[in-house]
Amino acid sequence: MAMMFHDKRGEYFDELETMSPEAREKFANQQLQRTVGYAYRNAPSVKEMFDRAGVNPSQIKTAKDLEKLPIIRKNDLIELQRKNPPYGGFLAIPAEDIDRIFISPGLIYEPIQHAGIKWFAKAFWAAGFRKGDVVVNTFTYHMSPAGILFHEALRDCGATVVVMGTGNTDIQIQTMRDLKVTGFVGTPTFLLTIIKRAEELKHDFRRDFVLKRAWFTGEMLTASTRQTLEEDYKIATSQAYAVTEPGGALAYECRQKSGMHFMDEYIVEIVDPETGKQLGPGEVGEIVVTPIHNKNWGLIRFGTGDLSSYTTEPCPCGRTGNRLLGIVGRSSDAVKVRGMFVVARQAEQVVLGFEPVAKFQLVVRRAEQRDELTLRLELKGVSVDRKKLADDLGEKFQSLCRVKIDKIEFVEKGAIPEGAQKIVDERTWK
Ligand SMILES: [Zn+2]
Repeated sequence: MAMMFHDKRGEYFDELETMSPEAREKFANQQLQRTVGYAYRNAPSVKEMFDRAGVNPSQIKTAKDLEKLPIIRKNDLIELQRKNPPYGGFLAIPAEDIDRIFISPGLIYEPIQHAGIKWFAKAFWAAGFRKGDVVVNTFTYHMSPAGILFHEALRDCGATVVVMGTGNTDIQIQTMRDLKVTGFVGTPTFLLTIIKRAEELKHDFRRDFVLKRAWFTGEMLTASTRQTLEEDYKIATSQAYAVTEPGGALAYECRQKSGMHFMDEYIVEIVDPETGKQLGPGEVGEIVVTPIHNKNWGLIRFGTGDLSSYTTEPCPCGRTGNRLLGIVGRSSDAVKVRGMFVVARQAEQVVLGFEPVAKFQLVVRRAEQRDELTLRLELKGVSVDRKKLADDLGEKFQSLCRVKIDKIEFVEKGAIPEGAQKIVDERTWK
């Protein structure tokens, strides 16, 4: 793969980040054709999957053509590896050429060739990590790819990495102070835990530490946590979306912090999890990934189970890749209403964002051969302009969740039991 690393002192890490849409499409199609052809010839499970779907690799010319193939999910991979150990027929290189093997819960074995890992650094480069930074990597170095892959990517940006791993909050704090650590890599929750503990130990975090940037994955960064870290502690934050099985970070934030640019080393589809058909910008669906940068691991159309959407709006940072918007939930928590997914967590963010609302429940019914979405609301008090609340909430819900609420019902206190499902599907199909 022709991948030139340049502009190392500047804004971008590689030339793929700023390709024109035409160049990107051409690049992606070429890489896809090569990857698919190679995997078909060398990975028995890939050949079997194509043959069963009645698809010849020569029919996969563009990302759109991937729709012809089934989606492989984590459980399929576990099952295939169990039946055909250790790699489930997805290994496409001689076993002795494997550099390292990661182990994911399941168990899933992931064979990786070291060559080609370098693209990963883009996610850290865009977050501002450079030579001179001293970074604690708090992801585990055991079994899972996170620790060692992030470590190497930080090195590719020139940063010095403290081989920290998870846990040991007090040691983290002392180390961050002693080594004058400038960067943190981990989850937002863990960084907040460290800061809180440091304050319990009577440190003044802003005065006694020099932490200036933090990079997160594995957990979405909420707006309020971001605000706390950036405003109260003056720590610049960025996040990336990473998935273990297809081997890494798929999308990363630039300094605009409004969505995560897709990496050109993968084809990322947003699809309807039921039909596998691709969805357009702004539509919520499952993230499905096909790595096109390496040939060792023939994972084609891996379904992550995460739900998100993407935007094609240009980004002021100059990177031209489309951007993944936040992860709104898991496909198992979503209910399809009039062809669109309503995700419990996303609905919750919208509805509970309205101060007077104590509890809510969405109910989907079937009325006159049409899905009908009802929002049941329990309010905190009585002195609320219900008409205005219903109008504002309905409008906000439609703009963010893209599905119109048909009815809003105000219910008595206690009508929605504690711990009740956020979305109830009462449809019966006859
Ligand atoms: Zn950008």
